[in-house]
This record gives sequence, structure tokens and C-alpha cells, in this order.
Amino acid sequence: MRFEMLDLNKCIRELELRYHKPVNSVQLLAVSKQQSIAKIQTAIDAGYTAFGESYLQEALPKIEHFKKTPHSLTWHFIGPIQGNKTKKIAENFDWVQSVDSMKIAKRLNDQRPEHLPPLNICLQINISDEPTKSGIQVNDLFTLAEFCKTLPRITLRGLMAIPAPQSNFDDQRKVFHALRLLFDALNEKNFSLDTLSMGMSNDMEAAIAEGSTMVRIGTALFGTRIIP
Ligand SMILES: *Cc1c(COP(=O)(O)O)cnc(C)c1O
Repeated sequence: MRFEMLDLNKCIRELELRYHKPVNSVQLLAVSKQQSIAKIQTAIDAGYTAFGESYLQEALPKIEHFKKTPHSLTWHFIGPIQGNKTKKIAENFDWVQSVDSMKIAKRLNDQRPEHLPPLNICLQINISDEPTKSGIQVNDLFTLAEFCKTLPRITLRGLMAIPAPQSNFDDQRKVFHALRLLFDALNEKNFSLDTLSMGMSNDMEAAIAEGSTMVRIGTALFGTRIIP
């Protein structure tokens, strides 16, 4: 059976129009964690070029595989980061969206290989303030952002968050709005951030309504995750 991939770019363009956002202001990150190389290939054939992975061991062979193909892809690390994984992450990814401590930022900076451009990073915020979730508290955001500015081998591009799941559209918007305000507050302090990474399969529309510049879509694009 051929796997039919949804034309998500078309969908995103329609949402940009509906919420009066500039055309192409929202990028799509195809979240390929727990998806096969064959499905990633289908996504590449459909024109997708940016992929998100959450587990280092699973991601490395995929990245290796596509290095041997003519495609120019961008890989984003979006999962929780343990200190002993930062070296491989700094060596193999273009972006890390889940930075949530000075220690991790410093290690990524120190371990980013010289022959590569600075690593793009987003700070992950625990926006719903859930004790068990990754991400920094809002109160720690400015200190960490200032610290990242001093590190030459990483470039702070923006903010990322995974809000607690909510089914009500207005409730989804409220959380994204709060994140948007933090993003604007940093930019008022001249951080020049261009990436507000918010919105997944179930809350993409609310995120775009609130000014997301990057939605991270897994299941809506690839179907149910399979690799255990
Ligand atoms: C898994 C994951 C996604 C994608 O979630 P879907 O609901 O499948 O779209 C997005 N962002 C992060 C950080 C994830 O871990």
C-alpha cells in the first residue's frame, strides 16, 4: 500500500491567510521520530526538507543514511537532552530546540565542531508549568537567554514549548499567546529572535493564530509512530 502524505504546506498556507499572517511566515518541521527511513524518503519526495528527532540513538543512523543521498536536509533535535549526549548532538544536528539549562547550552557550544556553522538553538519553556516536563521556568528565561548570547558557537534563534494537551481551541490559544508575549519581550530587549516554535498535530491552528513561525508535525503527517 502506498503511503499518502497529506499536503500540509497547503494547509499551513490556508491558515496563514485565515489568521492574516504573512505568506510563508510559518515553516513546517516534519517530526520523524519513531518513523521509518522509507516514510522519511516519502516526505522528502513530497518536498519536505526539515526533520525533527527526539532520540539520539534512533536519529543518528537516519542522518547518516540521508547524508549518502543528494538531498540537503536540516535536522532538528527536539527531545530531552542528557549531558552525555551533547557531543553527538552538536556534531550531527543543525538545530537544537530543547535547550533548557546553562550547562547544556555551554556543552553544545564547546562541542560544536569548528568546521560547522554555529548551532541554531531554541530555549524550551515549560509554559504550562508542569513539574514533570522538560523546559525552563519562565522566570529563568532572561538569564539563560543572556548567557546564550555570550556563547559564540551557538546562535539563539527562538523559543519552543510543548503545552499540556488541551482540546479547547481558545484554551490552546491562551497558552500560545503567553509564549508569544515572551518572544516579543525578548525581541524588545534586542535578542533578534526569528523562531517561535509552537504547534503540533493537535494544536497547529491555535499556534498559527498566535503567531507561530514553526509548527512541528508528526502524526498528522506520518501517521501513528511505529518504532518502539
Ligand atoms: C513528538 C513531538 C512532536 C510531534 O507531535 P505530533 O503530535 O505527532 O504532531 C512535536 N514536538 C515535539 C517536541 C515532539 O516531541
